[in-house]
Amino acid sequence: MADCIFCKIIKEEIPCAKVYENDEVLAFLDISPVNKGHVLVLPKKHFENIENLPDEILCEIARTIKKLSKAALKAVGADSFNLGLNNGKNAGQLVQHVHFHIMPRFENDGYKLWIGKKYTEGEMEKIAKSIKKNL
Ligand code: 5GP
Ligand code: ZN
Repeated sequence: MADCIFCKIIKEEIPCAKVYENDEVLAFLDISPVNKGHVLVLPKKHFENIENLPDEILCEIARTIKKLSKAALKAVGADSFNLGLNNGKNAGQLVQHVHFHIMPRFENDGYKLWIGKKYTEGEMEKIAKSIKKNL
């Protein structure tokens, strides 16, 4: 897409610190990392979100994440990472070209995991039922 910043990076109109590419997938360092070694993994073709992304490309992205996460952790001396996908506006998706975040984590790096909420009585079963119905 013409005005997509990640498409511009793919077309090399904007530079990036590339770490991996194949026919389908590109990976480069996030310009504003959660921690050093934060990598973005994305399809070379423009798809807005995971719903639009063909399964074969998603599989290729998953393979890339598995391979790349090891290398990224080694490069920055980390042994853990969070894998992220901000899918949609309310999930904080800022760039409308689907991309996964590999975020290396360190002991006492200042980040906290999600705080769990509570279900009301019977609500959990109801939502599980609704999800199954919508598959
Ligand atoms: P999201 O859409 O998942 O919320 O976040 C987009 C991510 O892309 C952010 O973490 C941001 O730092 C990164 N980003 C945005 N523009 C650029 C850019 O031009 N180059 C690089 N390397 N990363 C970018
Ligand atoms: Zn794009």
